[in-house]
Amino acid sequence: MNRILLSVLLCLGMSVFSFAADKTMNTDVVVVGAGAGGTSAAFAAVDAGLKVILLEKMPALGGSGNYMEGTFAVQSKPQIEDNIIITVEEQFKKTMEFHHWRINAKALNRWLKESSNTIDWIMANGVGITGVKKTSPTSPRGWHMFEGGHGSSLIKAFSERIRAKGGVILTETPAKELIFKNGRVTGVIAEDADGNKITVSAKAVIIATGGFPCNEEMIKKYLNAPYKFAGAEGRMGDGIQMMEKIGVELQNMHVVMQAGLWLYDVPTDIQFGQDGGKAKFVRLLGVLNHPYLLVSPRGERVVDETQPLEFISNAFENVGGQGFIVFDDDTRKEFVEVGLIRGYFGMVQRMTKFTDFDKVFAEGEKTGFAFKANSLNDLAKKTGMDAAVLNTTAATMNKLYEQRYDDQFYKDPTWLRPVKRSPFYALKGSLRMYSTTGGAKINEFFQPMTADDVVIQGLYAIGQDAGGLYGDSYDMNIGPGTASSWAITGGRLAVEHIKSTIKK
Ligand SMILES: Cc1cc2nc3c(=O)[nH]c(=O)nc-3n(C[C@H](O)[C@H](O)[C@H](O)COP(=O)(O)OP(=O)(O)OC[C@H]3O[C@@H](n4cnc5c(N)ncnc54)[C@H](O)[C@@H]3O)c2cc1C
Repeated sequence: MNRILLSVLLCLGMSVFSFAADKTMNTDVVVVGAGAGGTSAAFAAVDAGLKVILLEKMPALGGSGNYMEGTFAVQSKPQIEDNIIITVEEQFKKTMEFHHWRINAKALNRWLKESSNTIDWIMANGVGITGVKKTSPTSPRGWHMFEGGHGSSLIKAFSERIRAKGGVILTETPAKELIFKNGRVTGVIAEDADGNKITVSAKAVIIATGGFPCNEEMIKKYLNAPYKFAGAEGRMGDGIQMMEKIGVELQNMHVVMQAGLWLYDVPTDIQFGQDGGKAKFVRLLGVLNHPYLLVSPRGERVVDETQPLEFISNAFENVGGQGFIVFDDDTRKEFVEVGLIRGYFGMVQRMTKFTDFDKVFAEGEKTGFAFKANSLNDLAKKTGMDAAVLNTTAATMNKLYEQRYDDQFYKDPTWLRPVKRSPFYALKGSLRMYSTTGGAKINEFFQPMTADDVVIQGLYAIGQDAGGLYGDSYDMNIGPGTASSWAITGGRLAVEHIKSTIKK
């Protein structure tokens, strides 16, 4: 009897204890996810005099926003000062044509018109822009480069300002579900690092959890190939799942921000970052992205290697998502003596001479993604390619080089290289994405809608949780940096709408 009483008391005690640690909070706006979009939205809100709580699941702020190098805009001041003329109309038409009108035309137009204001806004609030670049030889100059090389400068400047103006930032506090009553979202339930429940009531909820690039189940369900993610962990599709649960329609879930082939199984920070920094393999990633000979796991040529990364990714989706760059000793000499002609984004400058190629390549061999052999047969053995296929591919490439005409895929002959002189080299790559891009179907105010286009009041979705910006492939080659601009501008515009609609 006593024992029963004791256990009842213990149970009661425990539930009272856990209840006591639960919290309720009230605010104007709660933002879920402190990456590029969420941090921008929270800063815009606090700057507009609204009470803000910003919830972040991870211990550190920024998500993949810490990695972005530059952001897109048209008709911005830095562009005008540099005589770069791209009009909203021109960009709108080009983008709609690229995506075959499978995207959200109204939201696209609103965002493009506002993109230059976003550049003014971030520059006025402590985020330096160091110039406007291209991401590839064929892309327009629309990539506004963040001071310090990455978007971490924006995350730092905005989060400091949020705190200075009284906004609350809670890290290790993931949102778990939306509070949804009578067709309206009125807050979120979150959980702190100790598992305590936090109920946040709010006039508006902004979802900015960065898509689902880290969620293997969702990748299997929605994507065309087994893409791995580059960049921040923690982007598990939480926001998309919470919204789907209350009836939000999802759009273009199969499309990702394609990043081409990356060195196989090498963590992001070791291969992506400033040359000379901790990304010791960034120049090998640059080599893998030079437009020479790319082959499938069997050794067959796959694509015109000069195509933009997004199309190279599409071609490799068809062969299982993995492959190799193969080159010979003459090309190795070119890398060392002439340099990496194309460079690699803002990280490896064009024509950088790869003078310590042999040393870095040997490290790559030890790590398991780089292979060297005295014959193509041995290279095939080491890499798992089919020797007969690889020999035929090399012979074909040598013929194309001799005739200075690529009648296989019609690549500009400047980029043909023979594969003749031993030793032979291969780097193994696999497809990566910067993020997924499918998410909530939204209107031009970034409000999610049901399948019947009914707006869910009190709710906003931005960044990689807002679908409808890309219809088929990522469009870096016609709009470098669109994803971050969509996230940052979306945050600003969602807050503008909240400001004009919430009752004080
Ligand atoms: C290597 C790399 C390079 C890139 N370069 C560029 C570039 O040059 N230009 C460009 O435009 N874009 C670039 N991008 C893409 C760009 O970073 C994204 O488009 C942008 O960060 C998206 O913003 P977001 O707010 O949607 O997501 P993120 O910035 O990823 O932020 C999402 C945040 O939500 C948090 N979160 C997840 N679930 C929860 C939850 N349940 N509760 C609370 N928080 C949660 C995550 O931890 C994360 O901090 C790059 C990305 C990578 C990885």
